[in-house]
Amino acid sequence: RNRTERLNRQPQAQSRQAPRFEDLPEYKRVATQRMAGELLGVANPFYRSHDAAAGATTRIGGREFVNFASYDYLATNTDPHVATRAKEAIDRFGISASASRLVAGERPDHVELERGLAAVYGVDAAVCFVSGYLTNVTAIGCLMGPQDLVIHDEFIHNSALAGIKLSGAARRLFQHNDVDSLENILKTLSSDFRRILVIVEGIYSMDGDIADLPALLELKARYGFWLMVDEAHALGILGKTGRGTFEHFDLDPRDVDIWMGTLSKTTSSCGGYIAGSSALADILKAEAGGFVYSVGLSPVLAAAAIAGLDILKSEPKRTERLRRNGHLFLKEAKAAGLDTGLSMGHSVVPVIVGDSLRAAQLSNDLLAEGINVLPIIHPAVPEGMARLRFFITCNHTEEQIRRAVALTAEKLKSLKDRNFGLASLDM
Ligand code: PMP
Repeated sequence: RNRTERLNRQPQAQSRQAPRFEDLPEYKRVATQRMAGELLGVANPFYRSHDAAAGATTRIGGREFVNFASYDYLATNTDPHVATRAKEAIDRFGISASASRLVAGERPDHVELERGLAAVYGVDAAVCFVSGYLTNVTAIGCLMGPQDLVIHDEFIHNSALAGIKLSGAARRLFQHNDVDSLENILKTLSSDFRRILVIVEGIYSMDGDIADLPALLELKARYGFWLMVDEAHALGILGKTGRGTFEHFDLDPRDVDIWMGTLSKTTSSCGGYIAGSSALADILKAEAGGFVYSVGLSPVLAAAAIAGLDILKSEPKRTERLRRNGHLFLKEAKAAGLDTGLSMGHSVVPVIVGDSLRAAQLSNDLLAEGINVLPIIHPAVPEGMARLRFFITCNHTEEQIRRAVALTAEKLKSLKDRNFGLASLDM
């Protein structure tokens, strides 16, 4: 009754309706893209349903495909050692960590995995989170604040951008892999902020080129910023023994303040990590919302990642095979006249084709030939820079690589005269 009386006393407010999701510009963008695909007869290449483990090969709709759309770089996903470790963890601990590790406590696999990851970088400590995406969001969000500045490569992953936004820090971007562009920002801004963080990726996820780590460290020594390197696509790939970007350049990994990585790629699990000093790990375990207020990494996934790291250490031949495959793919693609952008031929080789719908159609045409590779379209890459992104694994054969490149070139040529521009739709 009190509420009714209160409402009766208030002047009548204009009635307001919550917007319909169908009317949002975000939905209109999705719907326009879908309609354009339908009008041009381009089937949606996303969300294909696989009925097998997707590595160098996969099965879709009962048919075998050569697969270039899996992060299973070192073929750990179906390795019996990984499966055995994961099953042992299920038998001992069940599936879930059951609550935040703060409350539910540790499992031995958490401790072993974090020690193993710290050992990869020769640093004091590592902390694991339940996803790679969350790792960037919560670690950057925790370490940086409104008095701080984050400077990042223009191509860094969406998860790092989300972390910067969460932190409230000022943000500047420098031109891709251009340390002069970074230095220009540092020269004018470095004294204005409490802390400065520079974020780069070891191997860039959309382009497949490598951060200029030696030059970044040289700059760091002069300007005194924290350097964070996202090794999602570099762990297991760069360096003689697959330890990543520092090994590739023969640098001391302890000179980088914050190593970030994901467990979903080379180690075929799910989760992410930060590796660095004990103090950094202590801060994140006490203050990062994505650690404190989130369930701990599943012990099953921790066990699988430990087994993935075991394989990385004990079988450097997989890294070697991956390197040969990546270089072969790049060499063949260049010889076929394909635009591979900046790729250096490691884990990621894009073939840039222009319009989003052209990339989607090329993906569909290759599927018809038994090759599964997915397009990356706007807004993940700038409009006009849509691409097929080939993930290379150590288990691809030379023949599979040569055939995929030859067919990509052939199919792309046959699409040359087809107009995929949205303008042509008169919308
Ligand atoms: N960083 C980079 C560079 C990535 O490419 C990705 C995902 N592809 C992530 C972070 C997030 O990792 P995850 O998919 O394991 O959450």
